[in-house]
Amino acid sequence: MDVFKLRPGDDVEFELTEDTYFEKTNRQSPYENRSLSERGTIYFATCPECENLIEIRNLVKSGAVNHKSPKEPFGQHYLHGHSATRELARGGVVNRETYEDCSYSGDVKLGRKTSRKNGKVNDQMLLMLIEHAWVIKRAIHPCIGVNMGEKLFEKIIEQFVVGGGYRYRAANTRNLPYAAAFMAENQSLMGQFIRKDDDAFVSAITGSSWFTVTDGRITRKANEKDNVPEKDKVPGDADIRFFFSRFKKANEGSGEPNSMLLTVKAYRGKEAVGTIYTASRTFNNRDFSDDIVRFGASETAERSRWSGVVRKIVALHRPDLATM
Ligand SMILES: [Zn+2]
Repeated sequence: MDVFKLRPGDDVEFELTEDTYFEKTNRQSPYENRSLSERGTIYFATCPECENLIEIRNLVKSGAVNHKSPKEPFGQHYLHGHSATRELARGGVVNRETYEDCSYSGDVKLGRKTSRKNGKVNDQMLLMLIEHAWVIKRAIHPCIGVNMGEKLFEKIIEQFVVGGGYRYRAANTRNLPYAAAFMAENQSLMGQFIRKDDDAFVSAITGSSWFTVTDGRITRKANEKDNVPEKDKVPGDADIRFFFSRFKKANEGSGEPNSMLLTVKAYRGKEAVGTIYTASRTFNNRDFSDDIVRFGASETAERSRWSGVVRKIVALHRPDLATM
């Protein structure tokens, strides 16, 4: 993980960098421990989600000395409870239940539908969904290559909330927009405004047999009036739909980002007839929180509009949260 907090019960979490870690811990015990391992100093902190002990690796960048590219520091759960660490994270005892449930533990893939038991985090996910609806919407746009209209956005949020995606361990407060897009399953792109910056996607659509871009929107190609053989006509039930697969979690050691595969296919009714476009979409664990800071205070009208859309959906599912 690339975040940490000092002690269980703390509300504040910090981005994990060498500077922040040393500044917040003042290089004092029990955060720095020299007696527990033959490896030398172990740097400790607390997992922001499950509140178990974490060990900070790659904190001091030795890579810079031997000319290898320096790796980013990362936190991993420290599963050897010890009395020396009792001042941190639940008295030095590992809470297995919250650990198993933690989105930062192990290899939690977005495709895996294991529910999280931590109700506090689940509620926080829904509250973030309401509060940051506009930021989430605009983070999804480059992933799917279109600027979504209200209906498509509603469908994605509905699927995520009513379908329970926000409760899966794989979805967390860091990857919320991307998790929602991934769990949207299979949605139509017909009539959506295409993003002009995605040239490859635009040419894949205009080069397809049935679809094109008209006034910025994805539409069916018009059938020429006469002499088009029946088999070459664009069918009335032609649809263009997207889904995500192959989620790959970021490697915090190497700095490799998260990635998932976008697939856009042509359909007749519900039957897929051919692939139009595929592209790997990448994101870093910090992208969403950076966006919240960057856009958090701007565009108040847009922000309240999209928060309202999400609030309505959440209200049907969790009325107690939607009024907060
Ligand atoms: Zn944890």
